[in-house]
Amino acid sequence: MKILLVEDSRAMAAVMSVRLASFGYEVTLAENGEVALTHFRQNAPDLILMDIEMPVMNGFEATARIRAIEATQDWAWTPILFLTASDTQENLITAIEAGGDDFLVKSVAEAVLQAKMKAMTRIAALRKRLSVANRLLSEQASRDGLTGLSNRRHMDLTLDLSWSEAREHGRPFGLLMLDIDHFKRFNDHYGHLAGDDCLCAVARALCTVVERFNAERLTEGAFVARYGGEEFALLMPLVERQVYERVAEAVLVEVRRLEIPHRCNADWGVVTTSVGGAFVDAARDELVQMFRTADERLYAAKGAGRNCAVLA
Ligand code: GH3
Ligand code: MG
Ligand code: MG
Ligand code: MG
Repeated sequence: MKILLVEDSRAMAAVMSVRLASFGYEVTLAENGEVALTHFRQNAPDLILMDIEMPVMNGFEATARIRAIEATQDWAWTPILFLTASDTQENLITAIEAGGDDFLVKSVAEAVLQAKMKAMTRIAALRKRLSVANRLLSEQASRDGLTGLSNRRHMDLTLDLSWSEAREHGRPFGLLMLDIDHFKRFNDHYGHLAGDDCLCAVARALCTVVERFNAERLTEGAFVARYGGEEFALLMPLVERQVYERVAEAVLVEVRRLEIPHRCNADWGVVTTSVGGAFVDAARDELVQMFRTADERLYAAKGAGRNCAVLA
């Protein structure tokens, strides 16, 4: 348990430090609010004991700043106990108003100090667990459970951002819609578990392609999402038409190169995909229209015999 003790009086700090250390806490001392802020940023203490009257920056201001920092971080909250000279109603009210959680009189009995510290750390620990659970949940809510790709929901969120950026700068935008060929037959023939493995392998292949193009800086912030079922969406903000065509070709090749046997896929004998694409000007065109176009072309690719891309 890391305690940050903010106290300008050396005598007082020495007394408190010894007491806190005797309870088993790891104590760091800051002689004013400004030093406390630096320490807070660097070491994230579990609990803060804050004097009020101090030179350079007083306890109220330091607390307000700490709360402002925490407001930018999900669920962050460090208990702050003000150290006051006297046990008055006003002191309590001022402490709470200033963003503190409670106050302690400096002459507090040892047992009371220990009990208050225990109560505060219990709440802090609970809060920390909530924060971890919350992060995990939001991570899960944005991933597709099978392939680990962004799900539709997360794609929409990411897309909103990159689309408006492209629109603002009058840049082009590329979308590829991919669909595994005769996947129903694949499931019927090899079973659903093999189907799941196939989806994961295709997802990895798509990521490989995207990562390669991003790494070569031919695309910037291109990403893949599982659009639904055996369909994937590959989104490429800020891309040249030539690059868009190369990515589509690379995707077809990369999936074929997996060489996943698929006896019922025409003459190919392996898993293949069909691709429909749209290359648009984000400043002029509409997002919905981009999806509609890519979707129509995906159907055209199916009609043209599958294992191919229709891009214009
Ligand atoms: P086409 O070449 O025209 O795309 O034919 P298709 O058989 O791939 O298309 P269809 O839409 O008829 O079938 C899609 C199949 O994808 C049916 C569905 O059971 C399967 N599928 C969708 N999601 C999953 C999944 O998560 N796991 C497995 N194993 N199969 C899935
Ligand atoms: Mg003081
Ligand atoms: Mg489909
Ligand atoms: Mg299909």
